Amino acid sequence: MIVMKFGGTSVGSKVRFEQVYALISNAKAKEGPPLVVVSAMSGVTNALIEAADLAVKRNLDGALAQIDMIRKKHIEAVQGLFSKERADTLLADLNGLLSEIDSVLRGINYLGELSKRSIDAVSALGELLSSRVLAEYAENQGMKVKWLDARELMITDDNFGRATPNFEEISKRAMKVVPQLVKDGFTVITQGFIGSTMDGVTTTLGRGGSDYSASLLGVAAGASCIEIWTDVDGMMTADPRIVPKAQMVSHVSFQEASELAYFGAKVLHPLTIKPAVEKNIPVKILNTMRPDSGGTLIHSVTPETVKDSVHPNLPADAPAVAKSICAIASKKNITCVFIQSPKMLMAHGFLAKVFAVFDRHQTSIDLIATSEVSISLTIDNTDHLEDIKAELSEWGDISTIENTAIVTVVGRQFRERSGIAGEVFSALKDVNILVISGGASEINLSFLVVNEDADRAVKQLHDHFFGA
Ligand code: ASP
Ligand code: MG
Repeated sequence: MIVMKFGGTSVGSKVRFEQVYALISNAKAKEGPPLVVVSAMSGVTNALIEAADLAVKRNLDGALAQIDMIRKKHIEAVQGLFSKERADTLLADLNGLLSEIDSVLRGINYLGELSKRSIDAVSALGELLSSRVLAEYAENQGMKVKWLDARELMITDDNFGRATPNFEEISKRAMKVVPQLVKDGFTVITQGFIGSTMDGVTTTLGRGGSDYSASLLGVAAGASCIEIWTDVDGMMTADPRIVPKAQMVSHVSFQEASELAYFGAKVLHPLTIKPAVEKNIPVKILNTMRPDSGGTLIHSVTPETVKDSVHPNLPADAPAVAKSICAIASKKNITCVFIQSPKMLMAHGFLAKVFAVFDRHQTSIDLIATSEVSISLTIDNTDHLEDIKAELSEWGDISTIENTAIVTVVGRQFRERSGIAGEVFSALKDVNILVISGGASEINLSFLVVNEDADRAVKQLHDHFFGA
């Protein structure tokens, strides 16, 4: 059984639902019924969150107008897909869900109070609606379909807005229902993004969390492959908004994909890879609009494949090390913290103390470089920066630079190949580099620049390795 996850634009209109159905039925003919996970129609989750926000600001009309917009969007899609009679029945069903949210919004408005728990209750609606439309359409086309409420499988903690899945429980539940349904010939259609606590309170996995749902459910239900159908061809050698000539990468290792997902390659939710790696299940990124474009395969790289060039179309004059470069990525708005302390000289346990401060303030450190008497490190989340600085100042001088960007070169076998750092830094002659971190893994070399230099650095590196 395979998992097919469709993102918001993939179910963004009547035509897209038809395309998605065609893809599902194709896959079914080849490999048996899939487990289908869908996002909300594009724009719907944003509109729901906006509605909750307007409601708490005492603008009930504005909030209900958002719900009306969502209603119209679904009516438009549904009317094109079904006979009038069938459309009316389905719309009555969707309207039931929509009016529940109307009541929740009225409550938020009345109380003037909006908790993360209420936001989850509101924002979960989008997936419930889109998955109903798809399931109904597929059934109407003659497919044997079972619509499942993901909240019965995707059990999480109660960290609303960014709940943590309880994989053991999810596995137990998914194993109990999904394989049997598939065996009986049912295509299973369910929602991404949403879950519930053990007590049945609705939660969400965080924005863009449908990819993560797909891999969790896929791994839990014993899938052989997790397909993420989206609106781009796959992972690219750089962000195409920065480097218009960026090329698609046909296959990457799990590790490379995790690095790239963290570095804002918006193609995948960063946690998607995690469950798949553990069970060694390949993940494919595919384009719903251009299903034949090949996509990117994310898998465990074997010693044979590691020697292959990732890029079959490298220009003849590309440097030899380009063969081992997968992509150039960057992430802006990073804060760099510098700690300088003579107490560090020949001392032990110093780093442990520094890290403990960040740990106490639940702040994760990304890039780090140290010398004998100083440490430079970067953080993404500055919510607790003032407290962190106050504690650190006990041991030395603390300074920070905001608005910096991490640029990272992701590739393979960096430790074994010579010349990579040389190539990277010689391509960046006029970029001021603030911190360098390499060797932490053999698949990346990262450095820090100011925000304004980041795009230029990415472009220069891309031109250097993959041709201008
Ligand atoms: N619909 C949710 C969002 O827009 C989840 C997703 O699309 O992955 O964030
Ligand atoms: Mg999405």
